[in-house]
Amino acid sequence: MSDMTVIGLGAMGTALTEAFLDKGHAVTVWNRSPAKAHALAAKGAVVAASVEDAVRSSPLIVVCLLVYDTVHEALAPAREALSGRTLVNLTNGTPEQARAMSQWAVTHGANYVDGGIMAVPPMIGRQHALILYSGSRQGFDTHSEQLDALGTSKYLGEDAGLAPLYDISLLAGMYGLFGGVLQALALTGSAGIPAGEFMPLLMSWLQAMQGGLPKWAEQIDAGDHTSNVVSNLGMQAEAYVNLIDASKASGISTELMLPMQSLMKRGVAAGKANADLTSLVELLQPPKQVD
Ligand code: NDP
Repeated sequence: MSDMTVIGLGAMGTALTEAFLDKGHAVTVWNRSPAKAHALAAKGAVVAASVEDAVRSSPLIVVCLLVYDTVHEALAPAREALSGRTLVNLTNGTPEQARAMSQWAVTHGANYVDGGIMAVPPMIGRQHALILYSGSRQGFDTHSEQLDALGTSKYLGEDAGLAPLYDISLLAGMYGLFGGVLQALALTGSAGIPAGEFMPLLMSWLQAMQGGLPKWAEQIDAGDHTSNVVSNLGMQAEAYVNLIDASKASGISTELMLPMQSLMKRGVAAGKANADLTSLVELLQPPKQVD
């Protein structure tokens, strides 16, 4: 018997396996393309001949494949073997996919834990690799010590959809930031300013702006977007026009910037000109039901 099985040996599954091996665990592995297991076998991993053998080898099954459809496809032949084991699925997906997978796993007698990896493969095994988990509390508690080999574990609750919800929301914040950085570098780059010269200024500006985010959280939780407003939406919507015009004048695409402008305009049209930017979150959400 191994301590855990890792199914999926892409860039991430390989890093997960190496982290378990580094901590001295006995690991069984399985991958669709067997060649990816060779280097791990040389480091001590046991290579299973089939996915069913892989599942039967350990009480803890960690799956990291491309998408959920792949997980269903790969695990189907091993479903009877899942009973009494803990299935931790670290494949990226949506909350709905995680809940459906949880139901499927529970039907086959497994404890199901979904996970979101907030790290890239070289970070795995280090403390700054955050791994989000949700789903079976019993499954998580039983194996949390082993899972800690992968990074810093954070358990969010029994709803299997929570880990992907947090994961996707963190990625939404990240891509918003990345989009803004790309626009800034396209603008300065078109004026011949090297990215390396501008980047320190951009980084300290973004850091300064982050300082206001706890106040955003307070305002959004309180539903109060009009007390203590220092930069109202109406003013910001007017200034934002300059961002679009300056990009256009330099021949730079505005495709990343236009959706934000459209939301700001919608906010102003909805009478939020004197409110804070935080009021826009309500326009992104579905309309509240009135009884
Ligand atoms: P890779 O592309 O490196 O690996 C994909 C894995 O999925 C391989 O093991 C591949 O097998 C397997 N696979 C794909 N299709 C099938 C199939 N039809 N049947 C069986 N196996 C299949 O991806 P990563 O390892 O980088 O990513 C894995 C998961 O981790 C993804 O959900 C990703 O979003 C998530 N993730 C990745 C991060 C990263 O930076 N890499 C960061 C955070 C999360 P085969 O070798 O046979 O092709």
